[in-house]
Amino acid sequence: MLGFDRIGWIEKDIPEVGPTDALCRPLAISPCTSDVHTVWEHAIGDRHDLILGHEASAEVVEVGSLVKDFKPGDKVIIPAITPDWEAVESQAGFSQHSYGMLNGWKFSNVKDGTFAEYFHVNQADGNLAHLPEEISVVDAVMLSDMVPTGFHGANNAEVAYGETVVVIGIGPVGLMAVAGSVLRGAGRVYAVGSRKKCQEVAKFYGATDIINYRDGDIVEQIFEAQKGKHVDKVILAGGGLETFEQAVKLVRPGGIVSNINYLGSGDYLPIPRVEWGLGMGHIRIIGGLMPGGRKNMDYLAQLLVNKRLDVSPLLTHRFGNFKDLEEGLLLMKDKPSDLIKPVIELG
Ligand code: NAD
Ligand code: ZN
Repeated sequence: MLGFDRIGWIEKDIPEVGPTDALCRPLAISPCTSDVHTVWEHAIGDRHDLILGHEASAEVVEVGSLVKDFKPGDKVIIPAITPDWEAVESQAGFSQHSYGMLNGWKFSNVKDGTFAEYFHVNQADGNLAHLPEEISVVDAVMLSDMVPTGFHGANNAEVAYGETVVVIGIGPVGLMAVAGSVLRGAGRVYAVGSRKKCQEVAKFYGATDIINYRDGDIVEQIFEAQKGKHVDKVILAGGGLETFEQAVKLVRPGGIVSNINYLGSGDYLPIPRVEWGLGMGHIRIIGGLMPGGRKNMDYLAQLLVNKRLDVSPLLTHRFGNFKDLEEGLLLMKDKPSDLIKPVIELG
């Protein structure tokens, strides 16, 4: 990111490695919609000559003197979020916000990201995970951000056996929220999206109903399908601020609205007073940044190793050259109808 609305290639020094850190070389990378929010929506403010990217699988090139479990040559999964594990916030269970709101998000936010020949990882023992040999370097990239974010949406929604869940927005993140909800035992799952490709893949991951927001008010469409009954949970993974109003209208008393969407613009969320039970409806609204770190990566990787989750349907556009990254990032910005996620394998 050269500045607002401008991307390009730059030369930078290879980062230095502190005692607990690692230097990595990416094996595969993928651009994220969050990179698009950052560059073209100006969502986190101005950034100059910042290396983008927070999704990668990699090879360790160098480790600091205190790193215990990783050595040069190891293949690793890189979580998009790399917290400071000693922080009080981490000890309280919110490592995403170690030393301040969203501060566990370092790559392509407060430091250079993974779209480089070499990148730095803080606290290697806490933030890298060994890549199991059953998982390809390309599939592993989906463990950086798409799988953990979608699953975080389902976890925060506390999806339970037999529940009815609506997922609004079925790009790669929403599709993983569908998959996560199904793995947690959801009964009926409505996937809200307009693109044919995404609808097909949502069904692959277990969506029972597809709702197209271009066909009219989704609240009406879902209440019709539900014969007027509210749903248990709504996960927000796409669309704008208006989706909060829709979600609150759809959930039952005691239900949960779980947002994983990165809200890149606007100032306030519209919460409808009456449907929110005049302030007394026990409808919880939660928004969360995905949890990073080694344990989460290790456990999510087991879903791929044991074939409980197949991420390959997400990978619609595959490239084989670093320079293709630019096309991949622009694809993510323009979202052609057949795109879910581009990935660049570097070898
Ligand atoms: P995406 O743009 O590919 O998918 C969102 C989809 O929502 C798109 O297909 C879009 O057409 C659709 N959409 C637009 N308006 C809609 C509406 N009114 N109703 C329903 N769908 C609508 O994005 P993605 O890569 O899947 O990421 C989703 C969001 O998650 C992005 O904002 C991204 O930045 C964010 N994100 C958050 C985290 C986190 O930790 N919370 C991590 C990664 C990404
Ligand atoms: Zn991301």
